Amino acid sequence: MNDKNHDRELGMEREITRRDFLNGISIALGTSLVANSTWVQAFGIPQPALASAFAPEKQPGYYPPFKTGMRGNHDGSWEVAHELRDGNGKNEDWANPINDGESYDLVIVGGGISGLAAAYFYRKFAGQQSKILILDNHDDFGGHAKRNEFQAEKRLLLGYGGTQSIEAPRNYSKVSIGLLKELGIEPRRFFKYYDQKLFDSMHLQEAVFFDKETFGTDRLLRQKSLHYFAVDLRMENVSQMPIAEAARQDLLRLQHASIDYLPELAPDKKQARLIKTSYKDFLLQYAKVHPDVVKVLQASTHDLYCVGIDAVSAHDCAREGFPGFKGMTLPKSHEENPEQDEPYIFHFPDGNASIARLLVRSLVPGALPGHTMEDIVTAPANYARLDDNSSAVRIRLNSTAVRAKHVEDPANAKEVEVTYVRGGQAHRVRGANCILACYNMIVPYLCPEMSDKQKEALAYGVKMPLVYANVQISNWKAFQKLGVSAIYAPGAYFTNVTLDFPVSMGDYHFPSSPEQSCLLHLLRTPCEPGLDCKDQYRAGRFELVSTTFETFERNVRDQLGRMLSAGGFDPASDIQAITVNRWPHGYAYEYNQLFEPLDRPVSERPCVIGRQPFGRIKIANSDTDGHAYTNTAIDQGYRAVQEIVRTTSVRTTS
Ligand SMILES: Cc1cc2nc3c(=O)[nH]c(=O)nc-3n(C[C@H](O)[C@H](O)[C@H](O)COP(=O)(O)OP(=O)(O)OC[C@H]3O[C@@H](n4cnc5c(N)ncnc54)[C@H](O)[C@@H]3O)c2cc1C
Repeated sequence: MNDKNHDRELGMEREITRRDFLNGISIALGTSLVANSTWVQAFGIPQPALASAFAPEKQPGYYPPFKTGMRGNHDGSWEVAHELRDGNGKNEDWANPINDGESYDLVIVGGGISGLAAAYFYRKFAGQQSKILILDNHDDFGGHAKRNEFQAEKRLLLGYGGTQSIEAPRNYSKVSIGLLKELGIEPRRFFKYYDQKLFDSMHLQEAVFFDKETFGTDRLLRQKSLHYFAVDLRMENVSQMPIAEAARQDLLRLQHASIDYLPELAPDKKQARLIKTSYKDFLLQYAKVHPDVVKVLQASTHDLYCVGIDAVSAHDCAREGFPGFKGMTLPKSHEENPEQDEPYIFHFPDGNASIARLLVRSLVPGALPGHTMEDIVTAPANYARLDDNSSAVRIRLNSTAVRAKHVEDPANAKEVEVTYVRGGQAHRVRGANCILACYNMIVPYLCPEMSDKQKEALAYGVKMPLVYANVQISNWKAFQKLGVSAIYAPGAYFTNVTLDFPVSMGDYHFPSSPEQSCLLHLLRTPCEPGLDCKDQYRAGRFELVSTTFETFERNVRDQLGRMLSAGGFDPASDIQAITVNRWPHGYAYEYNQLFEPLDRPVSERPCVIGRQPFGRIKIANSDTDGHAYTNTAIDQGYRAVQEIVRTTSVRTTS
């Protein structure tokens, strides 16, 4: 079949919702767009009035969560930052910004959970009247904690565009769990809201999809326990896998036999060896498995590490419960704490976007109605309220900071000047303090006068790229028929495809009948097996920024069709909307013990050197902890505020 016919079969020409446009007008906000006056013409705004008139958030119908198509680091959010990188801050227009005369107690760059939490903590310390400005380059707040909305006839469907769940809240620090509680979040209520029995009661379970390009044939096999694949390999399943017979036997051996593959080494030496051996090499060199085993397990580390088993240490995989270590005694890790194990159920329907929304509710009066963790789920945000003169806290979206500079030398300065670009125009504001809760790697461009040592440390990590696609389908009968709820696809474009989490709370109800429209969640973590992990992340990022929405859409349709057609799924008629949350700058960089030492003192870690206060400028965000979690973003926001408390006398403007 030629490509055109195939595209037609997939439904590439069908009408689906791709709401990239608001009121028929693109809200892509790159400088070029503004420069060529699309926005100006669209609204009839004369050029000189552009700077003050540029306020898309105040337009009726401005509601980013409802946009589909390409989201995440969407077009319009990254262009100015890349210009800063490429021009190294020497853009002439930015050197002469408009001075709007705005002055704040605190200017925060980054409206993710870390920046929002920092604003919350600062107000606790300096008073609710403190004047705070939060700048963010996206059209929506929350950073990675983004909400995706869909409409299924009269029903609202909610998805998470990034940050998925509150993971293991019992392990949260006093500060981070304290914040959740102050916002009204009671984690134990999720035991009621998350229906842990629904899929079991319908006899749905995990499955593996073997694709013909990798395994010679398309085959969907029900296989219990998919997350950290292969924890419950059964003979009856393994025998149907389209892999060599020797590989099937090897998988069973890895799973069930108590074999020590490094018998000559004492436990501590064994551990040292496993730390410096990839899981792939462990399987091939020590467990001596057939190469087909590697093909099956290759992508099983993708969701956690954003790389395959070639770039994750065997030691990490042993700790995570991957097969092959049953007979190997290893020293107990201080991080292992089985008593702290909690089910993975602490999930709002829009993921941790609800935490961001609860923060905004507490910071900006009138932005989000309601009072509880339940009513936040369906509360519509009023974007026109976010940046309002009458509010002590203002959140200014579509605004990229390009400079943060002390007025006078950092040791004696009383203020920091922050320059940001909005609607193609540079503006300047002043703050008595500044917190950069953005990405570590952009900080050296914002503050070129920092020491080389600090800049080098900030530039050390490479954020991990990944894609969360939400696909609205008209019904999920195919899943019911095939008896699956989540699919691991080691060789396919999207390595994981799952039915949305069955969570109902407040006025929001999970579509628990298979006849109803629901959301599928698809994961892709682009990487380049064989390279070291940082180079894999760089290659993945490049792939993401150069992949069109059309390519994502074609892959969504092709893969869902091939996996689910035996259950009656038709990609042409059953897909109603697609949102691709593309995160070239995704998870914070986490040190990888396979490639770098983890035994250096904490004070010598790049994230610790990089986050040192620089005069009145402090640095927050999850990169500064080297861990990609919501609680670390909160803790680091708190730490940055504590640095202000410790090192400066607070100026309040009221
Ligand atoms: C896809 C995905 C899934 C995740 N799932 C989970 C999960 O299930 N559980 C969990 O605990 N953690 C999860 N995480 C990690 C968690 O999301 C993060 O640790 C946390 O939300 C990061 O918050 P942050 O404020 O530090 O950074 P961010 O959320 O990245 O916010 C920083 C903001 O600053 C903006 N910014 C950067 N530079 C500038 C500039 N120059 N000017 C203006 N703005 C700027 C950024 O664009 C961004 O909006 C996930 C992350 C991703 C990407």
